[in-house]
Amino acid sequence: MMDDGRNQHGGDQDIGRLLNLVEIPECQSLIQPIIDHLPCGVTLFDQSLNMVACNGVFRRLLDIPDELFAAGLPSLKKLATFDAGRGEYGLGNPEELAEQVVLRAKAMEPHQFERVRPDGTILEIDERPLPNGGFVTLYMDITERRALVERSRDLEALNLELTDTVAALAASNAELHAAREELEHLAQRDGLTGAWTRRRIEETAQQEMLRKARYGHPVSLLFIDLDHFKRVNDTHGHAVGDDVLKAFCKIARKCMRSTDLLGRWGGEEFVILMPNSGVMIASLLAERIRKATMAHEFPVVGRVTTSLGVAECREEEIWESWLARSDAALYAAKAGGRNQVIKDAAHPGETGEAELLDLSYMRLGWRKAYESGHSLIDSQHRDLFDLANNLLTSVLGDRPDDEVVPQVESLVADLTKHFHDEEMIFRSVGYAAADEHAETHKSLLDHANNLVESFKQGELSVGELFNYLAYDFIAKHMLSEDRKFFGQILEVHDTAG
Ligand code: GH3
Ligand code: MG
Ligand code: MG
Repeated sequence: MMDDGRNQHGGDQDIGRLLNLVEIPECQSLIQPIIDHLPCGVTLFDQSLNMVACNGVFRRLLDIPDELFAAGLPSLKKLATFDAGRGEYGLGNPEELAEQVVLRAKAMEPHQFERVRPDGTILEIDERPLPNGGFVTLYMDITERRALVERSRDLEALNLELTDTVAALAASNAELHAAREELEHLAQRDGLTGAWTRRRIEETAQQEMLRKARYGHPVSLLFIDLDHFKRVNDTHGHAVGDDVLKAFCKIARKCMRSTDLLGRWGGEEFVILMPNSGVMIASLLAERIRKATMAHEFPVVGRVTTSLGVAECREEEIWESWLARSDAALYAAKAGGRNQVIKDAAHPGETGEAELLDLSYMRLGWRKAYESGHSLIDSQHRDLFDLANNLLTSVLGDRPDDEVVPQVESLVADLTKHFHDEEMIFRSVGYAAADEHAETHKSLLDHANNLVESFKQGELSVGELFNYLAYDFIAKHMLSEDRKFFGQILEVHDTAG
């Protein structure tokens, strides 16, 4: 046992003292039985460095062959030479190594050291000089003890390593977790439909509300709920219900503009956030979605209808209130018999689109207030209104694309000509922001041509195209940007007249 070694060494003093008896000839016969009972290996040498006694443990521990004892107990020189020869003292010339052992024994100091034997056994060796010369050596096999110590050190190191690994794993686990959350946050998509999550919609709504506050851009919210959806699930099962939700989102996306955001509010409720759209344009889009959904043949289920509520964000309104108004509009649509769009009641101060788009006739209404006083500009503006109205009629009537394409093309051609003429006119009156305005024309036209191209390729819905043309060209550009040089044209006319 590990501890025994130490305890036995605690008694070494006594052993040493006892072994001093070796000096007394009458006592020598007592020595052998005593050392034979000691648990460690023992050797005794006299002043002449001849062995006086050793025990069996010594011979066993050091594998001393009988031959070495054949001629009686060996001298230290003989023993050391034998040991050096079999590599007991490590590498080197055996003669020299043995010589060193002998020399050291002659000037013996109490000395404790370890020796690793060629077979790997570790010996703890304790050498002590005797008072009248000679010395005693104790040998203890500490291989096992050392192995245990090593093993416990290894275990300790391993333990530390494991602790580190566990800590690292925990850290990377936390990182993974954070990364996943981040990804989910970045993706912000509903798993089933790919629609934006409620959180993303709310975040974007806040940004759009800021834009409205800062630049006056209108923004609307559409709340959509599938009608009698519980029946779909009850009749056809949840999986079929899921397919309907996915298909519905596809339909809605086709009707939407690229800037609109479709979100899944929960269950079979969806919202669409519509930047740059007042309640009129938003209702138009809502109506398109309602019609497109109603017209769709859903596999297994057949027809599905939707109820929709629209509300435009009001001046200084908080999100909760805006949301509540669109929800209330949806509720009204349900209460009114479902499969319909209800828009939240107009409110003083809401975007001027209410006067721009006379939705009861589904037309862009021309007003005297839109006139610049320049006959060419005004007549072109009016013509563009008419073309837009014709296009709108086709859009609302769900006319086939091959009927719509020529209308769109002639609208864009007229726009191009109109922009060109208008530039000539405002340059001729020395309009200061002429270059800037012409730049705007150019980018509007580039965008319009791109949209028409996408529309022809089937990548863009006619609704999106119309909304862009009606809103960006007519509402935003003609009726606000153009207004900036109207005053100047009138002044020139006045002085001329
Ligand atoms: P209403 O016309 O009044 O809206 O009737 P409804 O049946 O659509 O409304 P209700 O709110 O009573 O039921 C909504 C159903 O939508 C109940 C629920 O089982 C189902 N639903 C919610 N989330 C999911 C979903 O992720 N997948 C499927 N398949 N069904 C869902
Ligand atoms: Mg519902
Ligand atoms: Mg429902």
